[in-house]
Amino acid sequence: MKYVSTRGPGPRIGFADVLLAGLARDGGLYVPEKFPRLSPGDIRDLQGRSYADIARRVMHPFVAGAIPKAAFAQLVADTYAGFDHAAVAPLKQIGADRWLMELFHGPTLAFKDYALQLVGRLFDRVLAERGERMAIVGATSGDTGAAAIEACRGRARMRIFILHPRGRVSDVQRRQMTTVADANVHNIAIEGTFDDCQALVKAMFNDHAFRDRHRLAAVNSINWARIMAQVAYYFAAGAALGAPERKISFAVPTGNFGNVYAGYVAGRMGLPIARLFVGSNRNDILTRYLATGVMATAKVVPTTSPSMDIQVSSNFERLLFEAWNRKSAPLADAMTAFARTGRADFGRERWGRITRQFAGFRLDDKGTARVIRDVHRSCGEILDPHSAIGLAAGAALHRPDDGALVALATAHPAKFPDAVEAACGVRPALPARLADLYDRRERCATLPNDLARLKAFVAARAPINDETSRKRP
Ligand SMILES: *Cc1c(COP(=O)(O)O)cnc(C)c1O
Repeated sequence: MKYVSTRGPGPRIGFADVLLAGLARDGGLYVPEKFPRLSPGDIRDLQGRSYADIARRVMHPFVAGAIPKAAFAQLVADTYAGFDHAAVAPLKQIGADRWLMELFHGPTLAFKDYALQLVGRLFDRVLAERGERMAIVGATSGDTGAAAIEACRGRARMRIFILHPRGRVSDVQRRQMTTVADANVHNIAIEGTFDDCQALVKAMFNDHAFRDRHRLAAVNSINWARIMAQVAYYFAAGAALGAPERKISFAVPTGNFGNVYAGYVAGRMGLPIARLFVGSNRNDILTRYLATGVMATAKVVPTTSPSMDIQVSSNFERLLFEAWNRKSAPLADAMTAFARTGRADFGRERWGRITRQFAGFRLDDKGTARVIRDVHRSCGEILDPHSAIGLAAGAALHRPDDGALVALATAHPAKFPDAVEAACGVRPALPARLADLYDRRERCATLPNDLARLKAFVAARAPINDETSRKRP
């Protein structure tokens, strides 16, 4: 499989290069040259198989040519063997023709584990093959940092540096990061906001000499490998609920548009998806676009679903690329204009095509609390705030001809105990393996919001890529 950038006629590159590059040099995102297809017979053949088996079959075409079949099967099997539910992504019925898919059985209790646990292993393999090392650097407002640290911990060829705003992530989120004891993990609390952390990371990457010398790489949701891994659970849900014979719709709490875009990819690969419902909190740039055809940024406001407190949904560009029939020139122009003005109308034709399959719904914190309480009363399930928003979107938008409805539960309620307790009166407990989280020793450096200090910290600990180390791998 070869990949192309959404923004230009640059070279077609293979999976391993896409994995390590993240963003394309022209500023675009990588997408496969062509979506592989599973036939109705292939989809029928997924029924009754293990999650790892389904995931391997769905993902294999994307890595073909880069990783041999047997080695990839082993990587995938190892990845999901570490999850703490035998079904990996279990479905729970919560109404007639309505299901929850629990995507919080990985090590850090959010759906990001389903992709990052595999991505960590893929990095390891590709770096070993090339005799290279890497320093992963990222800023987090919570879930991503913990999932990335769990994915990279203890891997000899990787160092990981995660910045979080000091005092501004939840206790559970901070402890999930700072109690990891492996020597290659570096937590940095920045005296500033999440935006300050992001600006520091960006500035560090923009110093190309520094970036190359210390082999810096990013872990963000624009990496194609993360999308690819997420496609698998859409097929797992579809196969369990009767695809290819039965249509399915998915409701997805959405921030960067990575998760719901993976659903779109599943549809392009042959899964009979009727519609995709996008749930957002008060940071509703996507639901406003779907309603009006105009994409306009606004100031980010904090909510009880912090993993969706974002201003721009990076992965949306991948959908626009398809809506533009893969014409990169007008898309690149539109994205440049959007970055400059914070406002874009991608054209009625694009909007029409997108809204045939996508619909959006927004819910504020009060509404989110009401959904958590109602679902707890009616079926005993405890939802986290993100999952509640997704389910609410599905409930509001689903029509009889949309087939079975699957709402993705993207985080364990115990990750957001305060919001959940305030909503339904129950304080959700952490799973047994994390029960001692509050007793574990924390390890974290604190730095001022100062680029020079941060660079010195990273430089002292990151691998160095100079001529001598390149000659002696
Ligand atoms: C990251 C995250 C989301 C948003 O997912 P995107 O792929 O960015 O749209 C939703 N819920 C939870 C719990 C998350 O951690």
